[in-house]
Amino acid sequence: MQMNRLLFGTAGVPNCTVKKNNPIEGVKTIHALGLDCMQLEFAHGVRMKEEVSSGLRKISYELGIPLTSHGPYYINLNAREQDKIDSSVERIIQTAKISDLCGAESMTFHAAFYMKDSPYDVFDLVEKSMNVIEERLSRLDIEIELRPELTGKTSQFGSLEELITLTKNVTTCSPCMDFSHLYARTGEYNTEEEFNQVLTRLKEELGPNALKKMHIHISGISSNSKGDLKHLNLNQSEFNWKALLKTLKEHDASGYVICNSPNLEVDAKMMKDYYTSI
Ligand SMILES: [Zn+2]
Repeated sequence: MQMNRLLFGTAGVPNCTVKKNNPIEGVKTIHALGLDCMQLEFAHGVRMKEEVSSGLRKISYELGIPLTSHGPYYINLNAREQDKIDSSVERIIQTAKISDLCGAESMTFHAAFYMKDSPYDVFDLVEKSMNVIEERLSRLDIEIELRPELTGKTSQFGSLEELITLTKNVTTCSPCMDFSHLYARTGEYNTEEEFNQVLTRLKEELGPNALKKMHIHISGISSNSKGDLKHLNLNQSEFNWKALLKTLKEHDASGYVICNSPNLEVDAKMMKDYYTSI
């Protein structure tokens, strides 16, 4: 899908959708609301009937609403037991398979927990699994961007630095830039100047295309010293989303902006309206 601007959508089916458990209806709602894209949430498991995935692919194409996806929460590529690592790999592959059937081009997931291990060791283990996943997806002829998420808790793998290095080392990997998590995780990155620093760094380290076809998450958030506490609506949070959108526009960034505030479509629409107005 060609894109030269930011597209705005929701993490999952919009709240106002009458049949909330039906993602096909969700895509129709996105279109009716004047939003641009939708993320399929497989947070509690990767199951989808074939008629749903083919229906999604069709409606997404017909209405021009591209899809992204989010893998299950119980993924940990640094689990204590090898069989749990193996099943985490399987869950990522399963998410990729179903996302591909639905026509999604980018999928995100929380890669691992540190489990009190050295972040360097965890990095090596995550990188190893990502290479295995990349190899297996390529054999299955599945082309999808694998986007480990910038995570909000300091106990989770997924700092900005880790994702930049992983992107350099694994061809099909790119970061899912959750700017609200970055803010919650560090207590920084909430001003135009700081957002500018991050975007400049992504371009310098990952090349000029780093700000093209981005996969971004934005929501309101409250945090403590451990990072991510709670997702809030934007107007209840200190997160400076306007400064972020302004900086993204100045950098001519394009891609998906997925809103995971509790009010989903309300904040997504508010962000789209602001972005269009600047
Ligand atoms: Zn997430």
